Amino acid sequence: MSIAEKLQEIVGRDWVVAKREQMERYLADETADAIRPKPADNVVLVKPASAEEISAILKMANQEKTPVFVRGGGTGICGGAVPIADGILLSMERLDRIIEVDRNNLMVVAEAGVPFGNMLKAVEEASLFFPPHPGDEGAHVGGLVACNAGGTRAVKYGVIRNFVRGLEAVLPTGEIITTGGKLLKNNQGLDLMHLLINSNGTLGVITKVIFRLCPKFNSSGTLVISYDSRHKAIDTVPQILQSGVIPLAIEYVERDVIEISARRLSMTWPATKGLAYLMVILTGDSEDEVYSQGERVSDICERNGAVDILIAERREEQANILKIRSEVYSSLKPRVADVLDITVPPASIGVMMDRVDAVAQRYDVKIPTYGHAADGNLHPHLMVDLAEKGILREVKRAVYQDAIELGGVITGEHGLGVIRLADLDLCPDGKIWELMRGIKQVFDPNNILSPGIGVL
Ligand SMILES: Cc1cc2nc3c(=O)[nH]c(=O)nc-3n(C[C@H](O)[C@H](O)[C@H](O)COP(=O)(O)OP(=O)(O)OC[C@H]3O[C@@H](n4cnc5c(N)ncnc54)[C@H](O)[C@@H]3O)c2cc1C
Repeated sequence: MSIAEKLQEIVGRDWVVAKREQMERYLADETADAIRPKPADNVVLVKPASAEEISAILKMANQEKTPVFVRGGGTGICGGAVPIADGILLSMERLDRIIEVDRNNLMVVAEAGVPFGNMLKAVEEASLFFPPHPGDEGAHVGGLVACNAGGTRAVKYGVIRNFVRGLEAVLPTGEIITTGGKLLKNNQGLDLMHLLINSNGTLGVITKVIFRLCPKFNSSGTLVISYDSRHKAIDTVPQILQSGVIPLAIEYVERDVIEISARRLSMTWPATKGLAYLMVILTGDSEDEVYSQGERVSDICERNGAVDILIAERREEQANILKIRSEVYSSLKPRVADVLDITVPPASIGVMMDRVDAVAQRYDVKIPTYGHAADGNLHPHLMVDLAEKGILREVKRAVYQDAIELGGVITGEHGLGVIRLADLDLCPDGKIWELMRGIKQVFDPNNILSPGIGVL
């Protein structure tokens, strides 16, 4: 019996696709074209509807030693969802039920294939709040956990990891496990839940997620602060963090890129002065509290050379600003060869920006850069002209080298996927990769789940 026939026995004929032309859109993710890995030739797409069906698929694949790749929303930008070897591509789209928004425990329980936007809507309808906001709401909740996504709203509350309380997952050998629960404390042994978070589909298929929620804040405001130079803008960020005000988000963007995003969305970026901007989202119990935080942040920015400060208070205005910021990558993507994801200690962000400028000058190229400034997380964009000149890898490694010298990492939120593995030789301490390979071996003795992804 062929693999496709075995899969049909498990999930039914309607949910197995073997014809290439019917699965094209499943074979790529949002990685820039220049560096996206090529999908393998012989792939069978399967769409299971439950953890039990996934368990049966993995048991069969493990027996046959057939590679299995997991696909969530396909919004990843490091090639992690691309099936790079002949085998099975497992789409999570049918595990799409929001099981419960539990107002008493402040938790939401959802199947892994629920699109993030749907979960946000359900949480909002229950008058609760889920703080992290990775930019693409088409990502699945399982994908967000598998990548430990970050995004704009991590300053005050942290990244996705900080919100996961429980997971159900299917191991590569087919067993279904549950780790954590609706719990705020759990010291029952080694923390396998946190091992599954950011495992990029290498240790198990996440099938159910329990996220912690927050009560809704009563008031918010978004400041857009304009500067004439990127360095003045970036240098302000550590001072805001040291002031005692903890914003929900502090984003750094530049005029030329943010205006491309606004135009693509037929929207208007509200600031008309300056070249570089900080977008600061403040939240509080009352308008007065947000206003007083806004005053303190404005004072700091003015002392650091801000040329204009706008405040958006209306909900719609604030949502538009966040939307324009969230769509920057999609707007630049046709001209981007690689979007880097370096992260340095927050106080070193100004030095890192200087280093990016120095690399750009050395190679005589332009490197548009924006990012989650308060998290020390920058996204320098290496454009297609670098690939055309044959210097893409060299420039990338120069930026990585600088980040590592400052105590940073080559990826802060997007993950290693496929495309970042080749440059891990720059990272010190080879022992940690050996330990990771050992952990992978324990979970997946036959290396069938996402081989070649996420683990060196
Ligand atoms: C416009 C845009 C903006 C973005 N902004 C941000 C941002 O601000 N911050 C950020 O961190 N990321 C951002 N991303 C990247 C992306 O949205 C995140 O990495 C997201 O977590 C990917 O989720 P997904 O469901 O699309 O996963 P996919 O792309 O489908 O898969 C990504 C990886 O997760 C694995 N995976 C997916 N689902 C499961 C599962 N159920 N079980 C096990 N493994 C699984 C896959 O095998 C793969 O290795 C952005 C992407 C775009 C296109």
